[in-house]
Amino acid sequence: MKYNDKYPDAKLGIKVSLNLVVTLHEEQARPCVVCKEETRWFHRDIIIFHICSEECLEQYLRAN
Ligand SMILES: [Zn+2]
Repeated sequence: MKYNDKYPDAKLGIKVSLNLVVTLHEEQARPCVVCKEETRWFHRDIIIFHICSEECLEQYLRAN
């Protein structure tokens, strides 16, 4: 599920779960490291990459 759909009320800069963070600024949207879709979400364990959904995170973790 896309994080945008799972957390529609997420506020910028506020953690919605232990490891999941939405970027501070709207303009910091970057392509998801897995599917290349623009996203403002990133995961603390792989903070250098943006990641858009639970599926992409799983796929990324499996491949690395
Ligand atoms: Zn993705």
